[in-house]
Amino acid sequence: MQDRPLVLPHVFHRAEQLFGHKEIVTATAGAEQRTTIAEWAGRVRRLATALDRLGISADGRVATFSWNHAAHLELYMAAPCTGRVLHTLNIRLFPEQLSYIVNHAEDEIIFVDRSLLPLLWPLTDKMDTVKHFVVNDDGADADIPDDPRILDYERLLAESEPYQGRFVVEDENSAAAMCYTSGTTGNPKGVVYSHRSSVLHSLISLTADGVALSERDVVMPIVPMFHANAWGLPYGCLLAGSSMVFPGPNMTPRAILELLAKHRVTVTGGVPTIWMGALPMLEQFDLSALRTVLCGGSAAPKSLSEAFREKLGIPMLHAWGMTETSPIATMSTPRSQHDPLSEDERADVRARQGQAVPLVELRLVDPETGDELPWDDQHTGEIQAAGPWIAKEYYRGEGGGAQFTEDGWLRTGDVAAADRYGFVRLVDRTKDLVKSGGEWISSVDLENEIMSHPKIAEAAVIAIPHERWVERPIACVVVKPGETLTSAEVLDYLRPRVAKWWLPDAVEFIEEVPKTSVGKFSKKTLRDKFAGYKLPGAEG
Ligand code: ADP
Repeated sequence: MQDRPLVLPHVFHRAEQLFGHKEIVTATAGAEQRTTIAEWAGRVRRLATALDRLGISADGRVATFSWNHAAHLELYMAAPCTGRVLHTLNIRLFPEQLSYIVNHAEDEIIFVDRSLLPLLWPLTDKMDTVKHFVVNDDGADADIPDDPRILDYERLLAESEPYQGRFVVEDENSAAAMCYTSGTTGNPKGVVYSHRSSVLHSLISLTADGVALSERDVVMPIVPMFHANAWGLPYGCLLAGSSMVFPGPNMTPRAILELLAKHRVTVTGGVPTIWMGALPMLEQFDLSALRTVLCGGSAAPKSLSEAFREKLGIPMLHAWGMTETSPIATMSTPRSQHDPLSEDERADVRARQGQAVPLVELRLVDPETGDELPWDDQHTGEIQAAGPWIAKEYYRGEGGGAQFTEDGWLRTGDVAAADRYGFVRLVDRTKDLVKSGGEWISSVDLENEIMSHPKIAEAAVIAIPHERWVERPIACVVVKPGETLTSAEVLDYLRPRVAKWWLPDAVEFIEEVPKTSVGKFSKKTLRDKFAGYKLPGAEG
């Protein structure tokens, strides 16, 4: 057989040649920008020569600081197709983390949206390697400083000739893109995706038991393009020929729902926080075209998925992964063995993280003995992962390899059980488990039970040190607007639903669960907030 490299130029040329007529829509401030894949491809070709003209090294890091839009997709291709490395910066990182990441990756150029320039510009003097800041004017009225390092995106493209012929990347193992973990512990660490890993991972979103992307789909990635390449959806769409809708800067639930309805979107994806926000107004929109709502990044609570099923007729498609796994590792598509189950039992299956997708291997390992554990739904251990789009190390060896086993598997830091079909049920992150009297309490399970209460909007469970039991759980609860609730009512609700010793020692009502830069519950912030918390009845 021919030894053809698996490289992103193939994805680009396929889209350009076969799907030029397909549409890409971007929502901008108060308007909409429409383009076709043909026009987009022409701009990718101009951008390619622009990168040469600006003197970006042959394998230089090309950073983006952007919302989801068509211009971001131009960079998704122009950087890797010219042998450079796309580095998507998370726009919600703290300033110190951002400048740390830019310097660590040695970014040479940053493409930034005008609306985001005020966040980035104050840090630029700490960014030692960046030679150019290219501003994509998204209609925001943010000031553009008068500085020779600043260039205008449209002008740059207009002044550049289109690249002629086919893009060539010979080594499929060369770097195509990179992303830093959001750094919930320690400094953020870089994960480098190769051309090969990106192409193989994109194919997964086209499989029938996956998202099943097809040419007929209209796909709106809500998950940010700076978060693990928007779960691979943009490359998947280009490979399949799907039309795309990008939400731009307005990420309010109403704006998102309006776009889904207006463009008859068939497939979308985002973290649970997005869907929780959208839930109260779902019925106000015609979402009849929607067939798949991909949900991951945190556990998709059963109550949330069921609410979607009741209101839209489609439950969520739950997926699990992490930056280090590109990120798709499992998907919870129902299988034939689930057909005989009741609707409620099927909902339990959907709340699981699912089965490993093709080419990904998983194992459960006892963290203390290192022994592999059986898939009997009883034993819980750390999930370890291996496969062609699973990281084997961090960029520049950060972290000293502690997260990789001697035989080359990734330690995910997630604790899970799996049934005999390999349907994973994530119990917790190693660091979020509550260790009570030598037994583990799953904060995720407790949260899911609490969040099924009709008056509760959000809930997060954290461990509080306890003299006798080592740790005990407390529940931090956000009540829905206009509702009232007492601690006793929450505990009464939980009593028939969880083991007695799982009952939280206290219920604290809070305004909002703090979120991380990618919209997940930030347990770390909550733990800091409740540091020194005295449990009711605790001595001292
Ligand atoms: P960070 O580790 O910095 O939060 P990631 O976005 O890579 O950044 O997060 C990956 C982690 O998110 C996983 O290890 C897991 O703990 C959690 N996660 C992702 N998807 C799910 C899911 N479907 N259910 C539960 N947890 C999930």
